[in-house]
Amino acid sequence: MAKTEFKSESKRLLDLMINSIYTHKEIFLREIISNASDAIDKLYYISLTDSNVGLNKDDFKIRIEIDKPNRLITISDNGIGMDKDDLDNNLGTIANSGSFKFKQENEKNDDVDIIGQFGVGFYSAFMVSDQVTVRSKKYNCEQAYEWSSSGADGYEITETDKDSVGTTIILRIKEDTENEKYSDFLEKYKISALVSKYSDYIRYPIIMEMEHRKLREDCDLEHPEYDEVTEDEVLNSMIPIWQRNKKDVTEEEYNEFYKQKFFDFENPAHVFSNSVEGIVTYKSLLYIPSRVPFNYYTKEYKKGLQLYSSGVLIMDTCSDLIPEHFAFIKGVVDSQDLSLNISREMLQHDRQLKNIANTLEKKIRSELASWLKNDREAYEKFFANFGNQLKYGLVGDYGAHKDVVKDLVLFYSSTEKKLVTLKEYVERMGEDQKEIYFATGESIDIIDKLPQTEYFREKGREILYCAEKVDEFAFRSMEEYEGKKFVNIVNEDVEEESDSKEEQKAENEDDVLKFVKDILGDKVNEVVFSKKLRSHPVCLTAKGGVSFEMEKYMAMAQPEAMVRAERVLELNATHPAVNALIANMTADREKAEKYAKLLYNQAVIIAGLQVDDPSEYTDLVCSLF
Ligand code: ADP
Repeated sequence: MAKTEFKSESKRLLDLMINSIYTHKEIFLREIISNASDAIDKLYYISLTDSNVGLNKDDFKIRIEIDKPNRLITISDNGIGMDKDDLDNNLGTIANSGSFKFKQENEKNDDVDIIGQFGVGFYSAFMVSDQVTVRSKKYNCEQAYEWSSSGADGYEITETDKDSVGTTIILRIKEDTENEKYSDFLEKYKISALVSKYSDYIRYPIIMEMEHRKLREDCDLEHPEYDEVTEDEVLNSMIPIWQRNKKDVTEEEYNEFYKQKFFDFENPAHVFSNSVEGIVTYKSLLYIPSRVPFNYYTKEYKKGLQLYSSGVLIMDTCSDLIPEHFAFIKGVVDSQDLSLNISREMLQHDRQLKNIANTLEKKIRSELASWLKNDREAYEKFFANFGNQLKYGLVGDYGAHKDVVKDLVLFYSSTEKKLVTLKEYVERMGEDQKEIYFATGESIDIIDKLPQTEYFREKGREILYCAEKVDEFAFRSMEEYEGKKFVNIVNEDVEEESDSKEEQKAENEDDVLKFVKDILGDKVNEVVFSKKLRSHPVCLTAKGGVSFEMEKYMAMAQPEAMVRAERVLELNATHPAVNALIANMTADREKAEKYAKLLYNQAVIIAGLQVDDPSEYTDLVCSLF
């Protein structure tokens, strides 16, 4: 029979596996066991409502056999099984093809990275085997099938005989090479150790025949005699890690569980578990990743926790358990309050589930708050990764969650030169300061040099510098913090400015403003003499509700809306450049026009906006020489 080729991206991955220099080849076993356990989960779930399955909880098992002379390891399960299409689709294509494509686009060929990052699953078998055979019979199907492949040249699927439902995977272990002693995997003690290391918590027994010395029953204990016996032994403790006593679980075990379960190759940044009893009863084990998942800020990312009901997996990614602002949280929730027979669609409306979600939100919030308090450095690293998610939480649902999130967000402070909380800002505010000042712009550096921030900096006022697009929306949504209004000093007038400086006046004020406005036409909505400018000749401010940062954001997010900020050009009447303009209005009108255009363009550049006509601007500058 002709071989079927692997789909192209699978083939690449397979090549990677076969030629892998990945040092943790041993993970192949945990991948296969974890697939077996998932398959059993599925059939067990069905068995709860369907007596035709004919199996009780205790009947579900994973069995490992080793045939040393023939270099074979066989792993069998009595899970849901696969039919012909399943074998073709699941084993012919890499499950996580989306993520793999992403990798390809990024031209990173580091196999360690790929293997670690995506938990490549089944294909990892090819790191240690030169032939892989899968025999499977799916629940409710008559016919069993065999899938086999010896690597990159493709695979075959044929009909086969198999009595019971489930899957058997047979690995033919590679011959040893100079660098790799594959034969180790044919040692029972080695396999047993690998199960303990990686698969201890698997809830179904993982069984292997082990040779023991057993005390002979009728012997004299003073002179003990032993028999060599071969007996089935359960290799794993079967207690889910979240059910174990916190103090009995090592950090390494928590980390290992995380990496395995959530396909990360780095340890999590933070782990916390909770055992809650009361209106709702549940145990949770939650993690914060130490880096942003590659697809995090895309639609592909699915937030949610694994949901168990008394140890039985009900849902892999239960999104209702986690609010959007905590979408980065990974983990497991296990509750006895949820009915096992509940359908996945009904779950959405389940009251208990809502109660759990509410309690979880509070727990996560207080955990983050104490993390922020106790380990600022680690929290700031976390915030660099997921801070924007928290800030979105201030904005989303019309600000409904702002009270949950407002004390967890950080902003860059102009005076402290580091990230600060709103609480810290308010505590530092002088009595005479009524409002919380923030300034928006492209980057911290640019904001720091804005003409609008100069006055406040000179006065020693603290300003929150907002270089993230979401920042301004966040402040608008919050409106105030502890009774103090947020004011964007780039756009809005601040009370204390007006009496700060003598009113700037030019003799022929109205004529000047009209002159400049006429020249600039629709480019600006208004021209005024500024109260806030110090060393800069001009600045551009946005009047009304829309700021320049919002304009830029909307141009990207919703260009058809054509949202445009109202532009006000502010002139500094005490600046030589503006004075030169005024003087030339009578002396050399053409020059005065050039000056007006030049100053406008400079204001545009400082505001971080695009110059309307760059070549006209360059010509203008050159014409002055
Ligand atoms: P993943 O487990 O991440 O989905 P794998 O490559 O490990 O990716 O497995 C691909 C798919 O093959 C699984 O999702 C599952 O549908 C199927 N599969 C693998 N092993 C088994 C098994 N022992 N029993 C039933 N289905 C299996």
